[in-house]
Amino acid sequence: MNAINHAATALLINKKWPGVPIIPVLLSVQLVEFLWVLFNLLGIETTTTEPQIRALNDIHLAYMPYSHSIAATAVLAFLVWAVVAKLLKKPAWGLALAVAVSSHIILDLATHVHDIALAPGIGSPMLGSGLYGVPLLALVVETLYGVWCWRVFRGSKVLLTTIVAFNLAALSFYSTAIPGPEHLLAGHPKIFAAVIGVHIIVGLVAVGFFARSHWRSSA
Ligand SMILES: [Zn+2]
Repeated sequence: MNAINHAATALLINKKWPGVPIIPVLLSVQLVEFLWVLFNLLGIETTTTEPQIRALNDIHLAYMPYSHSIAATAVLAFLVWAVVAKLLKKPAWGLALAVAVSSHIILDLATHVHDIALAPGIGSPMLGSGLYGVPLLALVVETLYGVWCWRVFRGSKVLLTTIVAFNLAALSFYSTAIPGPEHLLAGHPKIFAAVIGVHIIVGLVAVGFFARSHWRSSA
């Protein structure tokens, strides 16, 4: 899922758990993706591309069981919960952050082609709704999800514009017919991972900044 829509999930978490500081919430919704970037750059996980990239379905998340698998996310969410709820003695924070971490794989399952494993070492079945096989439809669904997060949060018009604009800015990536900078990434999966890393941070900062006047800081 596009980084801006993962970031928008922090709006839902903030609405449900207003007492939890927003920065850890923002980082948690993308923790899985931060690991994916790191593991790709280190060569622990792999991404491949078609010789020509016209849209996101020309990029294949070939091997990512340590960042994106059901078991890996369950372990990660548990560790976050254990550290925050038990070690730091903040049970509500721990629950909210564990849900935020888990939200990532749920949203990816709802959008990805079959590239999410049950656990490292288990090669099949590979899970995913297959929506990214139809990129333009995926963009519509993702944008609607981001807008829904905004609506639940009751954010400002600037925040709504930001979410929609970030989705529209990715249009060429979601359309084989519209050329865009994605063709430069063909054969360069590590550069792709680094670009996604920057994209994650920009998305989180954008949502954090443009929602700042509406963050709920107490129950
Ligand atoms: Zn992901």
